[in-house]
Amino acid sequence: MTGMATDCLFCKIVAEKIPAMFVYEDELCVAFADINPQARTHVLIVPREHVASMAHLAPKHTALVGHLMAAAAEVARRNRLDERGYRLVVNTGVEGGQTIEHLHIHVLGGRHMDWPPG
Ligand code: AMP
Ligand code: ZN
Repeated sequence: MTGMATDCLFCKIVAEKIPAMFVYEDELCVAFADINPQARTHVLIVPREHVASMAHLAPKHTALVGHLMAAAAEVARRNRLDERGYRLVVNTGVEGGQTIEHLHIHVLGGRHMDWPPG
């Protein structure tokens, strides 16, 4: 596997050193329920490769980002969120509210989402 950061929680989950129930996985990413759910459905889409955040993307990651978005849509579809809708969130950096420095997409659904976000 490429780009594992030894001290990264999500790298450890990807490597199955810390348990998480994968609700979706493929060659590039895994998805598992958020431990502190903010909606009835709250799943994290996590690339297998350690990329710290959107602010750390390189040109080589462009296809990966598209893949992650497609995986998020697939997870939403599997959770029957297509009809009523859902929200994808990528917190980035300190002011973006990012707490885990391994890129991830939040898939949130099953309730009405407010705007603007807090
Ligand atoms: P963020 O604040 O955007 O970096 O999101 C990090 C998310 O990871 C938070 O919503 C946490 O609840 C979630 N989280 C932290 N530790 C775990 C874990 N062991 N398993 C699942 N989700 C986690
Ligand atoms: Zn990592």
